[in-house]
Amino acid sequence: MKVWFNDNLVDSDEAAVSVFDHGLLYGDGVFEGIRIYGGRIFECDAHVERLFLSAKRIRLEIPYTRQQIVDAMNETIVANDLTGGGYIRLVITRGPGSLGLGPFDCHSPSVFVIADQIVLYPKEMYDKGMAVIIAKTVRTSQRMLDPSVKSLNYLNNIMAKIEAGDVGVGEAIMLNEKGFVAECTGDNLFIVESGKVVTPPLSAGILPGITRSLVLRLAGKLGMPAAEENITIERLMGADECFLTGTAAEVISVTKIDDRTISNCEAGPVTKKLHAAFHDYTESNDW
Ligand code: PMP
Repeated sequence: MKVWFNDNLVDSDEAAVSVFDHGLLYGDGVFEGIRIYGGRIFECDAHVERLFLSAKRIRLEIPYTRQQIVDAMNETIVANDLTGGGYIRLVITRGPGSLGLGPFDCHSPSVFVIADQIVLYPKEMYDKGMAVIIAKTVRTSQRMLDPSVKSLNYLNNIMAKIEAGDVGVGEAIMLNEKGFVAECTGDNLFIVESGKVVTPPLSAGILPGITRSLVLRLAGKLGMPAAEENITIERLMGADECFLTGTAAEVISVTKIDDRTISNCEAGPVTKKLHAAFHDYTESNDW
């Protein structure tokens, strides 16, 4: 496998950051996870825009233009022969510096692109739905480190993911400090109530998911009522359907939350329609 690392395509076992890199020492950096469909970078502009915005928010200057970043991703796709489908991990770290946490002596960010195949969940899980828990770990507050910044510091999410692993399920729903549903550890969340599609607003303290906004657009195109509203645990548990969205997971149904069964252990009709519309869109040439 070839990895794009600071301007060069190198063998994956040669692609390594310094032990002094603040991305490693402090989680100081930003990243994106991006799908490749039909050899093309999916929602490329939106991902590159979110990357630059995240970097700006942590005052990290990316030493490349947007076009150079896109070119680096395309070179990596070709070098790894991923002209069918795959997944890109694009990472910008603060770069090597001293042992102090100040970023001021980090002058050369590490920029790398990994491109590989990905299968997150088995196919039957998309029909039968997945079981999730509500995590005790609270989502980081917007007043601490705003979850809209896709930083390398994912420990908040990892602690919730460990809770899910402890009870043998694949995802955990995280609540915000007010007790409203925020998102899952690596996905956004939707519920369906009497045919209406509802997802938490950005003000709930979530990553502005690119799949989330596509699903909202697709719901609009399908004539489904959709809204961004705060969701309480009671509302979540009483929903007709629940599903998650994310670059890696795409659109996946949730049929069990803690001990409560949702939509009879089967993807519900609205989830199925949006799942199909999502795949029609990714397989089309309209993007
Ligand atoms: N929330 C979190 C915390 C995530 O890590 C992700 C995955 N990037 C998402 C939501 C989904 O975002 P997207 O649809 O842009 O992949």
